[in-house]
Amino acid sequence: MLEHGLEDCELCQSPGGEVVWESDLCRVVMVGDPDYPGFCRVILNRHVREMTDLPEQDRLRLMNVLFGVEKAIRILYQPDKVNLASLGNMTPHLHWHLIPRWRDDRHFPNPVWAVPQRVKSPCRKAVGGRQLSDEIITALRTK
Ligand SMILES: [Zn+2]
Repeated sequence: MLEHGLEDCELCQSPGGEVVWESDLCRVVMVGDPDYPGFCRVILNRHVREMTDLPEQDRLRLMNVLFGVEKAIRILYQPDKVNLASLGNMTPHLHWHLIPRWRDDRHFPNPVWAVPQRVKSPCRKAVGGRQLSDEIITALRTK
């Protein structure tokens, strides 16, 4: 199997987006796609390929962050659905995509990486203009 070197890994070399929350284990970065406000990624802070390569304790902690972020997205953006995806085919460094979806968004009902169904998504703002970082902190504190 081809080993992807850490020096070639985009997620080892850079934050991978605007960091809105972080711990020793992982970070949450905003993707900044105007069609998908609230679209963010949870990225492990070390180079690990698969979830089952992680010690169980870290796997559970990572899932806990993931669900906290999902909760924050639901509260702030009130999407019709949240898509969680971990692909890593291009960058085999554990990271999860959390994507709020609406029935009238650009790609619905297909994945956001598929051929668009519409020209663009309607403009959406966070409920009460709140910040995702604040909502994530609240969600992880009160789980
Ligand atoms: Zn990496």
